[in-house]
Amino acid sequence: MQTFHIWTIGCQMNKADSERLESALGQMGLSASESTAEADVVVLNSCVVRQSAEDRVTGMLGSLKPLKREDPGKVVALMGCMVGPKTDALERRFPQVDVFMRPQQFDPLIELLGDRLGIDPDGCLGQLTARPAVTAYVPIIHGCDKFCSFCIIPYRRGREVSRPVAEVVREVELLADRGVREVTLLGQNVDSYGHDLPGRQDLGDLLEAVSGVSRIERVRFLTSHPNDMSDHIIDAVAGLDKVCEHVNLPFQAGDDEVLARMRRGYTNAEYRAIVEKIRLRVPNVSMSTDLIVGFCGETDEQFGRTLEMVKDIRFDKVHSAAYSTREGTIADRRFEDDVPAAEKKARLRAIDEAQAAIQAEINSEMLGSAVEVLVEDVRKGKAYGRSRNDKLVYIPDAKDRVGEVIPVKIDRTGPWSLQGRAAAAA
Ligand code: SF4
Repeated sequence: MQTFHIWTIGCQMNKADSERLESALGQMGLSASESTAEADVVVLNSCVVRQSAEDRVTGMLGSLKPLKREDPGKVVALMGCMVGPKTDALERRFPQVDVFMRPQQFDPLIELLGDRLGIDPDGCLGQLTARPAVTAYVPIIHGCDKFCSFCIIPYRRGREVSRPVAEVVREVELLADRGVREVTLLGQNVDSYGHDLPGRQDLGDLLEAVSGVSRIERVRFLTSHPNDMSDHIIDAVAGLDKVCEHVNLPFQAGDDEVLARMRRGYTNAEYRAIVEKIRLRVPNVSMSTDLIVGFCGETDEQFGRTLEMVKDIRFDKVHSAAYSTREGTIADRRFEDDVPAAEKKARLRAIDEAQAAIQAEINSEMLGSAVEVLVEDVRKGKAYGRSRNDKLVYIPDAKDRVGEVIPVKIDRTGPWSLQGRAAAAA
């Protein structure tokens, strides 16, 4: 039997794409391999959002060169955001790659393998779903229309295209049949979902429709843009039992001038007002965010406003990154990447230290409380899952309860996770 190995880097969208490709390759009769050296088909699902991610992909491609030389029959595919509309330059730079695929465009590889293996690939492309597990990602909107000045995504993933509600619901039903209990609806801008659909259904409508799928116990969504976070969506989070109380709302920078240069379309005060509204309407909601330090021209004072925002809002989680120029973006064309690397590092450290202390405090308030956890899997001998508000919880005595939602009494807390004991099975 032929084997494949998919190496994935980057965001949840990439992970979801890899899961779907894995499902298609499985339907073609290939089995998964742990090793790039042994696999007959190696797929690198790439990310170019940051230079460090791109460097890792380039490194992996370099390590595949001798393997391909030794075994010319090995199929090497590069997919994801590194692949733009034109591939000539990539083809010259990486001759070891047989197939280039843009995000979500699996057809070139499926067709090539269909030819080689003598399989009709049509049925395999029909129903691409995540592999069966307790939780699954479901992409609901592809691409992004926002064109933030620092971001390469709209150029690589294209304009926003929403999947029809009925199609998403069908996929979630299929996943539920295969044992999935929690779905995360994914988009670069998940809360702009539906603006391009007839009838203008929005994420609130979709959350309601997906909540109607029996056997699905929890629904999440990721990632939101502050400008698209409508009252209807907030009401859906507040009112629908299955929708978990967690919102990831990137703010990116705390200073209005930096926000304008980033083309984010809101101010510090407007962002704070949205957070306040969400917290007011959704009890126990947890909030996470993404931010960038060291954007072009960011002064000490301007960075200070980002740090202040982190301290004031007290997020449950912060994904922080140092700015790196991405070729072809608006920032690349118009601004100078002028904050020294050492300064970016120091700013990142200041954010991460402040946030670790905040997370430790927020989580310590959960000591002794009982939370509902969906047990996802077992890692290093310990079962783990997440609370409704997205806290990672280890439950050493729940190894035989994977797939169940169980009450857990929290007896240990730290900045990154909680630990607790499972209440006895009913
Ligand atoms: S909203 Fe901005 S940061 Fe997010 S994917 Fe779109 S362009 Fe990139």
